[in-house]
This record gives sequence, C-alpha cells and structure tokens, in this order.
Amino acid sequence: MFELTNQTAVVTGSGSIRGIGRTIAMTLAKQGAAVVVADLDMNGVQDTVRAIQAAGGEALGVELNVTSEDSVKAMMNKVMEVYGRIDILVNNAGISQKVTVEEMSLADMSRVFNVNMFGLFLCSQAVLEPMRKQKYGRIISLSSVSAKRGGGVFGGAHYSASKAAVLGFSKNLAREVASDGITVNCVAPGLVNTDIWKSMEASAAEAVIAGIPAGRPGETEEIAAAIAFLASKEAAYITGEEIDINGGSHM
Ligand code: NAD
Repeated sequence: MFELTNQTAVVTGSGSIRGIGRTIAMTLAKQGAAVVVADLDMNGVQDTVRAIQAAGGEALGVELNVTSEDSVKAMMNKVMEVYGRIDILVNNAGISQKVTVEEMSLADMSRVFNVNMFGLFLCSQAVLEPMRKQKYGRIISLSSVSAKRGGGVFGGAHYSASKAAVLGFSKNLAREVASDGITVNCVAPGLVNTDIWKSMEASAAEAVIAGIPAGRPGETEEIAAAIAFLASKEAAYITGEEIDINGGSHM
C-alpha cells in the first residue's frame, strides 16, 4: 500500500534540516519515489539528499526560489531531463512572520504572499503540462490551521490569509484537472515539533499545549504520513480536500 516506486516527487522547501519538508522528502523516498529536494538553501538541500541516499533512496538536489519563474522553469527542466516525468508535487516552501495587522507593512504582506501563494501557483502551474500528458499527478500543498482559526502565537494575518488562499486555489485547480487523473489536495497542520516550537519559552509553550486536546505538538512524521497517502495511487478519488492534522486543536 502507498508504494511510490517509479514515481518522481518534487518537494519544495525540503532543505530545512529540522523542518517538515525534509521529513516529507525522506518519507516519499522511503516509499520508493525518486525525490527532487528543492530549496533556496543549498546546504540544506545537500544535507537532505545525503540523508535520503544514506537510507538507500534516490534523490536529486536542486536550487529553487519558488517566487522566480525562471528558477521554477529551470528546476522543471532539470527534473524532466533527469527523470523524464513528474508524478508528485508537494508545495511545502513557506514563510511566516509574527506581526500585528497594525504593524504590518505592504512589503511584509507581499513577501509572505509571494512565497506562500504566488510561489505555490508557479510551481503548481509548471507541473500541469507533464502531468496532463501522463494522465496522472498528485499536487499536495501545505496550508495551516491558521487559515481556519487565525495564527495565534506563530504567524501574522498575512500568513493566515496566504494559507487560506492555498485552500481556495487548490479547490479550483482540483476541478480544472480532475478529468486528467490529477488530484489536488492540502494538509493543514497545527503546531508541529520544529524549530519554532523548540525556540518557545516554557510558559508560552504551556499555554499553546493547553489548547491542544492531544496535549502535544504534532511530529513531522505525522504530517508526512498523510502526504504519502495523498500522493499514492490509492488516493485517486480524493481531490479538492484538506486533511487537518492538529491534535484536535481545531475541529
Ligand atoms: P521551515 O522554515 O523549517 O522550512 C521552510 C523551507 O522553505 C526552508 O528550508 C526555506 O529555505 C524554504 N523556502 C523559503 N522561501 C523559499 C523560496 N522562496 N523558495 C524555495 N524555498 C523557500 O518551515 P516548516 O516549519 O518546516 O514549515 C513547512 C511548511 O509547513 C510551511 O509551508 C509552513 O507554513 C507549513 N506549516 C508549518 C507548521 C509548523 O508548526 N511548523 C504548521 C502549519 C503549517
């Protein structure tokens, strides 16, 4: 079940050493996919590639700025040159900023939307032609619980708005491409045990935990497992959906 052998997956933002993207990349590789590790941070990219290869998986590292059309095109050219197909795109690259609306500048708003929404648009658009030709594809994007209930301690309103935009965009795209065997879905994590969580003061962490019925943050593996399922052939009839992964903090 959920085998991804002979498939190619691109995971954006997978150079983050302790981030969700790296675990997604490692999980898809473990399921048999050749994984394109794509990120702005080439040190992180190389580190993730080594980790996948050390575990016996297939990986290709590519420098990517999701906000640049040229960079996205160059990445897709490389993927098609090396693997000849693209089956799975995971739009994971994302940025956040803790700032109130009163303090937010238009530049703050643009920066967050540029990566979280416009970058996601460029990457999603770039995979459509090969996926339509193959009559097969999986596009999975990282939204957030912040899209549904506000960002709380971690992100500003621009972050929540961008992650809500991801949901609407994905539903539209899902309708446009469903007849060609392409599914488009989202996962919406709550608080995940990444650097953000580890850097919090104990009192702030306690307050956050009090709002999570499961009593703990999620693990990156728990996000990656849902993505591996959505990426599989078995999930062919699920499209335009989002899976909430938040320990019950938003139901
Ligand atoms: P992270 O900051 O650890 O990793 C994000 C990665 O994206 C970094 O490696 C960064 O270099 C890369 N990136 C940033 N801008 C880029 C660009 N322009 N082009 C290419 N790569 C770029 O983040 P994370 O905590 O692992 O989060 C991953 C995703 O999950 C994000 O979309 C985030 O919004 C979402 N998310 C995270 C949490 C959480 O608690 N960590 C909760 C809900 C949703």
